Amino acid sequence: MKEIILCKYGEIVLKGANKKYFEDMLCRELKKRAKAYGSFDIYRAQSTIYIEATDDTADIDGMFEAARKVFGIVTVARAAVCEKNMEDIAKVVREYIPSFLKGLHTFKVEAKRSDKSFPLDSMEISREIGGVVLESCRGIRVDVHHPDVIVKVEIREFGAYVSAGSFKGAGGMPIGSNGRGLLLLSGGIDSPVAGYMLAKRGVKLEAVHFESFPYTSERAKEKVLDLAKLVAVYAGDIKVHIVSLTHIQEELVKNCEEDYFTLLLRRYMMTIAEKLAEKYNCGALITGESVGQVASQTMQAIGVTDNAVNIPVFRPCIGLDKEEIVQISRQINTFETSILPYEDCCTVFTPRHPKTRPELEKVLVQERKLDFDALVNEALESEYTEYVEAEY
Ligand code: ATP
Ligand code: MG
Repeated sequence: MKEIILCKYGEIVLKGANKKYFEDMLCRELKKRAKAYGSFDIYRAQSTIYIEATDDTADIDGMFEAARKVFGIVTVARAAVCEKNMEDIAKVVREYIPSFLKGLHTFKVEAKRSDKSFPLDSMEISREIGGVVLESCRGIRVDVHHPDVIVKVEIREFGAYVSAGSFKGAGGMPIGSNGRGLLLLSGGIDSPVAGYMLAKRGVKLEAVHFESFPYTSERAKEKVLDLAKLVAVYAGDIKVHIVSLTHIQEELVKNCEEDYFTLLLRRYMMTIAEKLAEKYNCGALITGESVGQVASQTMQAIGVTDNAVNIPVFRPCIGLDKEEIVQISRQINTFETSILPYEDCCTVFTPRHPKTRPELEKVLVQERKLDFDALVNEALESEYTEYVEAEY
């Protein structure tokens, strides 16, 4: 019996003239990911993307899981292919459907007939196939209002398909459909989650990581690249630009009031990130900040940070509790890596009493003690890029 994968996408975002553009994006993304699982034909028809193995060696299970990680796809189902006649459909239902219904109590059949030349109408197909399911699965009954599972029969142009139930896809919008964003990626829990959340909305990610060698180690950087690799499973390849803040931090410690270190450093980070965003065509910065989480994330501190740049700053974690962020990081598999204990540049010279209600004027007084632009330019010269390839 031949099995195929059916992917459905969110109808709402795909309305009108954009539909084809989005569909092509999804197909391209699926084709890219399919390479690791064998040879597949991927095509679309009637608001569904079909993934069909072209030989027996293809790994359907692997492809199924890979399809569930593609943003823009809302549900993914497996279906068996049948000839377009009721005998064959009934035979396939008997063989294929029972394993999907194990442990469930109720079902209903939904038939769809886009080939109107098929001799039975959808009501008739549903009735007949309902009977076949009742015969072949013990203990199951029909519930048309709240079934545990829907058995689907679709009569399409090129064949008929039967399936039982579908799985949630990654949701969101196709990668690249909403521009490019520069993620400020630390080794913590929050920023990988922030990147994932914007990627889910269709933003193609580019990343910047600030290091402070020798105060931060090579391993700390490796950890960040590992995190980028995990985010890339969803977001696709990510270029991670590495910039050194060592000199800036040393100058801050020598010249400025300790209570302001973190705030000043964050203004440097944002400014450098803004310049990189311009260089790499990114329309926004993305950070993992959450209001009130730490001293530099009070409303006033965020105001002081934002004041350093003119580009939009997206903070998708802003209203989430730590526990909620952790939950997402577990779901996307970054949590275990994030909690590995390596130092971050923000933690190497932390003030004992950071300002939690900073006044911008006082921050600027501190900032003016150094040649801000020169230090920014010097940091930008230290930039080099690591290419993190997605492994799907
Ligand atoms: P995270 O868990 O993401 O590290 P956090 O709660 O530890 O966040 P901070 O360390 O104050 O908070 O950082 C806030 C945000 O600033 C991070 O989410 C990240 O976007 C950015 N950031 C912090 N450190 C770095 C760094 N070394 N390189 C790049 N971005 C950073
Ligand atoms: Mg951090």
